[in-house]
Amino acid sequence: DGMNAQDLAKILHRPAAEIVKKLFMLGVMVNQNQSLEKDTIEILAADYGIEAKEKVQEDITDLDRFFDVDNEDESHLVSRPPVVTVMGHVDHGKTTLLDNIRHSHITAQEAGGITQAIGAYQVKYNDQVITFLDTPGHAAFSEMRARGANITDITVLVVAADDGVMPQTIEAINHAKAAKTPIIVAVNKVDKPGANPDHVTEQLTEYGLIPEDWGGDTIFVKISAKFGKNIDELLDMILLQAEVMELKANPNRRAVGSVVEARLDQGRGPVATLLVQQGTLHVGDPIVVGNTFGRVRTMTNENGRRIKEATPSTPVEITGLNAVPEAGDRFAVFEDEKTARAAGEERAKRAQEEERARTSHVTLDNLFATMKKGQMKSLPVIIKADVQGSVEALAQSLQKIKVDGVRVDIIHKAVGAINESDVTLAEASNAVIIGFNVRPTPNAKNEAETNRIDIRLHRVIYKAIEEVEDAMKGMLEPVY
Ligand code: GDP
Repeated sequence: DGMNAQDLAKILHRPAAEIVKKLFMLGVMVNQNQSLEKDTIEILAADYGIEAKEKVQEDITDLDRFFDVDNEDESHLVSRPPVVTVMGHVDHGKTTLLDNIRHSHITAQEAGGITQAIGAYQVKYNDQVITFLDTPGHAAFSEMRARGANITDITVLVVAADDGVMPQTIEAINHAKAAKTPIIVAVNKVDKPGANPDHVTEQLTEYGLIPEDWGGDTIFVKISAKFGKNIDELLDMILLQAEVMELKANPNRRAVGSVVEARLDQGRGPVATLLVQQGTLHVGDPIVVGNTFGRVRTMTNENGRRIKEATPSTPVEITGLNAVPEAGDRFAVFEDEKTARAAGEERAKRAQEEERARTSHVTLDNLFATMKKGQMKSLPVIIKADVQGSVEALAQSLQKIKVDGVRVDIIHKAVGAINESDVTLAEASNAVIIGFNVRPTPNAKNEAETNRIDIRLHRVIYKAIEEVEDAMKGMLEPVY
């Protein structure tokens, strides 16, 4: 709209006179400055073999557009520190390793600074910086990923040499693989008498993690997190892996990134730990974070020091938001505070509307769609069965199901018929009721029908499990 022959000439890299002539031949008589109709532009463009597309009004609430870095000019990119997540089975030494790295590589100028738990920290090693996400556990990892934040570059998989590959080790591997991050294996506790690092290596080959001297390409480092053995070698390997990945970002643009943690502080209001992924974040920047907005009032690093700006891969704690965002939310700096406020308010409004729409209760039939929209992190389930043994068996099996970071959350389980109280609880918690060898009382049945609570009755345990799993995977056959 408003485009004339001159504008078109610029876009098409042709003389304006030629455009006017072409238009004339198409039966459109205009001078160079007269604005053209949409159809005319389309026909003319087609004549030049180009498809004309109307420029869509930019959706200010859309944060994705800021993350589109594919068009970034190569020459603007500089290398950035790798972002590392440590994962592994419980008690295999994740916390010990993170603590050891943090304390042994704190920079001199920062020694003595207040060490804060802000969910992420940086260490300097051999004059290079590494960012660690201080959130052990793949639940947090996948939760963030489920919300759209893919911030981990490298996963360090900690496996205790005296314990070997355990269920959560395998889960961690699968989570890392799903996120497409390379895995560095840290075989930990090699100091222990019962340690058998070779056995760990052997076990891991089953999952495609094969060391270089066995013909694979996975980096293995034998460490003792507790006694600080080979930690430097592990850091060397992280830097090596990072170098291979050529991690880059443009520091000279408005910042975008993700929320690592957020909470409400009594005195300071909403406080969020942000990881900058592109650009540089400054104190005073107008910002939209998830469904919140504001202006960066204060910015501190993990040592509690006030800083004025944060470059790519730097975690910072900020204040100045109107509300508390959620871990995994993304943020973007806006051109001005007015637009940031408008975008933030609109995003919050939409989220609220979605939330309201969601109160149409979850059923196994709509579960998958709800999961897909990212509105669900767990499927609340109520179990009723004829005997205690079945209650437990069903509960245990259901809890083992995990799809796309969504898991079954047993909010109530008991022996007996499905009663009105079960239905009310299901309604309040947006839960599905599973009955095994039991049936609903007539009142419960009526109540459930009125409120559209999903009750599933089974006589074979594995069928009940299969049904839930299929629903979570979106494979449930519709029932007519
Ligand atoms: P996490 O659950 O994976 O975070 O494991 P922790 O870091 O809490 O460690 C669990 C236990 O293993 C603690 O008692 C640690 O002191 C111990 N531990 C961790 N690393 C080592 C190690 O390298 N050698 C020995 N002997 N013990 C370790």
